[in-house]
Amino acid sequence: MNNLAILKIGGSVITDKHSETPKVNLEVLHRIASEIAEAYDKDSMSLILIHGAGSYGHQIVKKTGIHKGINNYEQLLAFAETQRLQNELNSIVTKVLIEKGLPAIPVLASSHAVMEAGRLVKMDVETIKGFLSIGLIPVLYGVPAYDRKQKCSILSGDQIAPFLAEKLNARKIIHGTNVDGIFTANPKEEPNARLIPEINSENFDEIKRMLGGSSAVDVTGGMFGKVMEIIELLKKGVNVEAVVINAEKEGNIKDALRGEIKRGTVIRLR
Ligand code: ADP
Repeated sequence: MNNLAILKIGGSVITDKHSETPKVNLEVLHRIASEIAEAYDKDSMSLILIHGAGSYGHQIVKKTGIHKGINNYEQLLAFAETQRLQNELNSIVTKVLIEKGLPAIPVLASSHAVMEAGRLVKMDVETIKGFLSIGLIPVLYGVPAYDRKQKCSILSGDQIAPFLAEKLNARKIIHGTNVDGIFTANPKEEPNARLIPEINSENFDEIKRMLGGSSAVDVTGGMFGKVMEIIELLKKGVNVEAVVINAEKEGNIKDALRGEIKRGTVIRLR
């Protein structure tokens, strides 16, 4: 695919992740959409957007346990309601993107994804390819999905990004989160945590050990999950560059889409 970038915006950025009820950070969403619109050059790049669920997903999933599987009718209802909530958030996100002049088209991953024990094993990408080829910007999002072992598991944006990067030959994956990058420990809890500027084949395993203890695990694996997904992809030999940046700081998304990283973590093969 022509110069494809995959930009994932964390649920903790566009929503208030700690709110008990679903709540969008509208101001942040507008600012990020404007940055994307400024950086997106339709003639020289292709773009896929993915967003997380934040308070539209984590609370209901934690409460009902559907990420671990479905055992009763109540959980089936929760599966359906969780999906509906994700669609609601996606509608808000795409509305703002379209208002900024971006041809953002929703793609519901769970209508054709198959999971197995929490891992994405199959997802058709022909439609996404077609959308990109005519100039649309597919917008995917974390969703509850059919799982052939446990009936339901969560297909996170963090899993979708590397899957699509491999299938569609993306040049880069950008993770816009609410911290400056990957640190030696959780920077929200450890004031002495240091930013790791680069993760590569030489320090993969060391980083894995370090993060194993530090991660604030949410239902989709948190920062640890994000990094592991990318490392696994690189270990398979997929040559994509991934960056983790702070999407809460103005200008970072625009810079990253233009290939300029002032502060963040780059993950690549070396
Ligand atoms: P998103 O919603 O953007 O996908 P997550 O909530 O999944 O983001 O992960 C980001 C959070 O991970 C940060 O807010 C941070 O508190 C936490 N975290 C835990 N360990 C680390 C670490 N070693 N480096 C950076 N962030 C970490």
